[in-house]
Amino acid sequence: MRVIFLGPPGVGKGTQADFIAKKFGIQKISTGDLLRESVDRRTTLGNEAKLFMERGELVPDNVVIGLVEEKLGSPECRNGFLLDGFPRTVAQADKLSSFLEGNGEAIDRVVYFSLPQADIIERISGRRSCPKCKAVYHLKSIPPKKEGVCNECEMPLMQRNDDKPETIQSRLVVYQKQTEPLIQYYKDRGILSELDGSGVVSAVQERLVALLTQSR
Ligand SMILES: [Zn+2]
Repeated sequence: MRVIFLGPPGVGKGTQADFIAKKFGIQKISTGDLLRESVDRRTTLGNEAKLFMERGELVPDNVVIGLVEEKLGSPECRNGFLLDGFPRTVAQADKLSSFLEGNGEAIDRVVYFSLPQADIIERISGRRSCPKCKAVYHLKSIPPKKEGVCNECEMPLMQRNDDKPETIQSRLVVYQKQTEPLIQYYKDRGILSELDGSGVVSAVQERLVALLTQSR
């Protein structure tokens, strides 16, 4: 099974990606993890990526694509994979599909997680995290036992700048501009499914498993 998860930040696809990868025994690939891993392992591509990350710049396409291709060719991906957060652009999608074609493979299904903007803002703006152990809470869905402090270390919880309502709005605009064309791209190829991302985690999970089992 070869799957791509698409969707704006805050839609809950990261949580679902971990679950699905385990359930179907496939490798989850997120570009954030790949970048951190390759920088730590000091691979050629990792060293290159590090230069951009240290300057606070976006890592260029060719480096990201190189990392993804390296991973896709590794034994962990033999049973299939789930790409979370990649591709982000049509150019990346084109590169990915020609790479897979070269191996006689193709993407089976692209799942687009959708959620009304108001819900996204509520989900993201409720996030709080512990600066010490990095545990993540949510004011509504995963509140800490004692208000405002971490269950484990009793540190005061913090809100990332990225998660403040005024920043979320602009993140969503960037996402839409960049990724909307991708939705059409996969629709045209007949492999896009839209998934209703509303409701509790277990409800979304159920819909997702049904969808993926069907398209296997
Ligand atoms: Zn903590």
